[in-house]
Amino acid sequence: MADHSLRSFVGKVRRFWLTSFRPRYVKEQLARREGACKNCGRCCELTFRCLFLTKERMCSIYGLVRPSNCTAFPIDERDLKDVDGQCGFSFGQSLARAPEALPLPPPADPEPPQVLAE
Ligand code: SF4
Repeated sequence: MADHSLRSFVGKVRRFWLTSFRPRYVKEQLARREGACKNCGRCCELTFRCLFLTKERMCSIYGLVRPSNCTAFPIDERDLKDVDGQCGFSFGQSLARAPEALPLPPPADPEPPQVLAE
């Protein structure tokens, strides 16, 4: 139990750090993310219960304003462990990434001039 609480806390700090200082990584990961939120509210109760979570486990500020920590959950597979894998999102084996994150191919060598036979 204490291990789960510590992991939840570390995950919360990690997500804050990633969304604040690693926005490119977050963008790449969100491009990989598959599925959809099923409104279970699990991520709203990590470490502490969000004060915007209603008794029906719905977000009372959804659509108005939400911290980037919330909209970005889950950022990667590590976040899924924080909710014991019980999330509508998953990360498949797809290598789809944000276009700007893909390395550019090396420039092609120009074709050598053709020598015409006389
Ligand atoms: S744990 Fe996943 S499915 Fe549940 S509310 Fe959070 S993002 Fe949505």
